[in-house]
Amino acid sequence: MNILLFGPPGVGKGTQGVRLAKTYGLRHLAMGDVLRSAVRDGTPIGKKAKTFMDAGELVPDEVVVGLIEECIAGDRGKDFLLDGFPRNVAQAESLDSMLDRLQLKLDRIVFMDAPEEELLKRLTGRLICRACGFGFHRHYSPPQKSGICDHCGGELYQREDDREEVIADRLRVYQQQTRPLLAYYARQPGFAEIDASGAMDEVFERLKQVVSG
Ligand code: AMP
Repeated sequence: MNILLFGPPGVGKGTQGVRLAKTYGLRHLAMGDVLRSAVRDGTPIGKKAKTFMDAGELVPDEVVVGLIEECIAGDRGKDFLLDGFPRNVAQAESLDSMLDRLQLKLDRIVFMDAPEEELLKRLTGRLICRACGFGFHRHYSPPQKSGICDHCGGELYQREDDREEVIADRLRVYQQQTRPLLAYYARQPGFAEIDASGAMDEVFERLKQVVSG
């Protein structure tokens, strides 16, 4: 089963995506993670992407479409969960033709939504481990020792684009470019919408229901 998760920044696509992928044995393809790793490695794509990411803007379509095709085609035998791609209608159209070419399809398309006030609280408190990538939250799921990862002892940091000034831009970009995906996908088979506000475990239960339903 191939799954697509989409929704605003901070809605929990990454956190829930990791859990869903584990539960259903899927490859978790998170475009933000792929880009951040290119930035860390200092590749030409990473250097190009960084300016856009730091400003809360979308990285150009030709860059992300190429990257996602490599990921999807890379291990065609294994089902996948897409998180963070597509982020506009042009990317969704590219994805459709890519999947046609590869003779693959999306079985579940889930739109996750939550009130903007909650998204802001989640994003501004987010902390990530530099070593293992595990996510914490200053208030909702704080680490046992401030600044240190519970799992590997790595250093926790705040994403450059989780600063308040950049978050406003990301939410604006979402409204203008990504939210129109709702109209694009709502008429496709396998589409579902869930309320992603509230506790992490409750949201996961709602997701599992629509995914297995
Ligand atoms: P995320 O981790 O999903 O919040 O993504 C972080 C940043 O990576 C975004 O704010 C964009 O700058 C960039 N990015 C991630 N996915 C895409 C995409 N599909 N298209 C363009 N830019 C993207």
